Amino acid sequence: MAKNLTSREEDYSKWYNELVVKADLAENSAVRGCMVIKPYGYAIWEKMQAELDRMFKETGHQNAYFPLFIPKSFLSKEADHVEGFAKECAVVTHYRLKNDENGGGVVVDPDAKLEEELIVRPTSETIIWDTYRKWVQSYRDLPILVNQWANVVRWEMRTRLFLRTAEFLWQEGHTAHETKEEAVKEAEQMMNVYADFAENFMGVPVIKGTKTDSERFAGALETYCIEALMQDGKALQAGTSHFLGQNFAKAFDVKFATRQGKQEHVWATSWGVSTRLMGALIMTHSDDNGLVLPPKLAPIQVVIVPIYKGQEQLDAISQRVEPFIKEMRAKGISVKFDDRDTQKPGWKFNEYELKGVPLRLAIGMRDMENNTFEVARRDTLTKESVSMDGIVDRLEELLNQMQENIYQKALDYRDAHITEVDTFEEFKTLLETKGGFLSAHWDGTEETEAKIKELTKASIRCIALDAKEENGSCIYSGKPSKRRVLFAKAY
Ligand code: AMP
Repeated sequence: MAKNLTSREEDYSKWYNELVVKADLAENSAVRGCMVIKPYGYAIWEKMQAELDRMFKETGHQNAYFPLFIPKSFLSKEADHVEGFAKECAVVTHYRLKNDENGGGVVVDPDAKLEEELIVRPTSETIIWDTYRKWVQSYRDLPILVNQWANVVRWEMRTRLFLRTAEFLWQEGHTAHETKEEAVKEAEQMMNVYADFAENFMGVPVIKGTKTDSERFAGALETYCIEALMQDGKALQAGTSHFLGQNFAKAFDVKFATRQGKQEHVWATSWGVSTRLMGALIMTHSDDNGLVLPPKLAPIQVVIVPIYKGQEQLDAISQRVEPFIKEMRAKGISVKFDDRDTQKPGWKFNEYELKGVPLRLAIGMRDMENNTFEVARRDTLTKESVSMDGIVDRLEELLNQMQENIYQKALDYRDAHITEVDTFEEFKTLLETKGGFLSAHWDGTEETEAKIKELTKASIRCIALDAKEENGSCIYSGKPSKRRVLFAKAY
């Protein structure tokens, strides 16, 4: 089964699409651009959610829920915001269907036209800031630190499972603050939370930075982001955190009485990560045999496959593994004993390899005699015979090693794919041959950025937070530049 995957070398994009479907993560639906997330894929998303949710709460945030629909007039209140999202909005115009008198089935009832059309939320700043007006009167009501887990709709034209869908699942944090400094600090903090999650749970190294004017979120003064690199040398925006200034407070008239008794507009942030993270996870670690999952996010961390003939042998094996399963569960290791008799062991091995289960234990009659399990690691595809004595500690150790190993592997790849470039010729060549991040000087203008994108399809992924000051000249215009920025072709 695993053998049926197209290799990454042959066609990376095909490999990804096949893998998502064959590993039972998601599939296309009857609605263009919208996916069905299957139970195995959803289980991974749930683990991501649980961890992120814990991190948000640890940093003082609470969850709340706002409506799916936004009155059309709300969207236009912040000029940049509406301009950014107008082209991809789904709009509700009617609230009732009726039977067609001419036998054409069900049609929209023209008498049921909404007085004010509703937008299916592409993001919730507007409806939330309209609500915050009622929540905030004085500095004592601040800060508001709220997060929402929800689905949103952006009518994307070119969609790909998880990476870019018309409807996607995400979380959106929306915070309100007394001062600019506090809001900036919050936006930076959440970027750091995202980076921490990406690196320590997903095993995905990321670069922290800010977006250029043209790539910034519609309505933001600053967009902080984390950028990851996929195995085909293309970058992926994995998370964003926006400092919104007072734009939304002004648009929705959210003022507060300051400590000095003056009226001032509230400062805002918003931040989000989506099911796109699933795409990042898949594309960073997986190989030609299937998915490779970091143990911390794997729905099944250890699978035990019995190798037996007849019920008697299976009973003996089941009895033998029982205490180990209990011990693993007590330690918080998620384990599955696959005693299905509908599939052969070889089939199961392939299946778990494809699904990226970190550790596979096989146990047959010989292992029973020798007091061993055969332990196979998904990341290195290596096998070893391990004594049953103290095996659970050994498995725990292996899971930790694997978590570290897949991060290190991704980090080595990423670091080997950041190249400093000083001429446009070299820039173009490297983009076509090696890919990855190209660290180059840029004159700071939107025109140059757009021109480079038009000529090479590479965009400025971010101005890295740790970029040093360095005098140079723009690779395209030759004009002076104060620091390098990171370019890449991106998803
Ligand atoms: P934004 O609100 O545009 O800053 O996006 C918030 C998060 O959602 C970012 O991490 C994006 O990478 C992600 N995102 C944006 N558009 C899509 C999409 N069509 N499908 C999946 N994720 C998306």
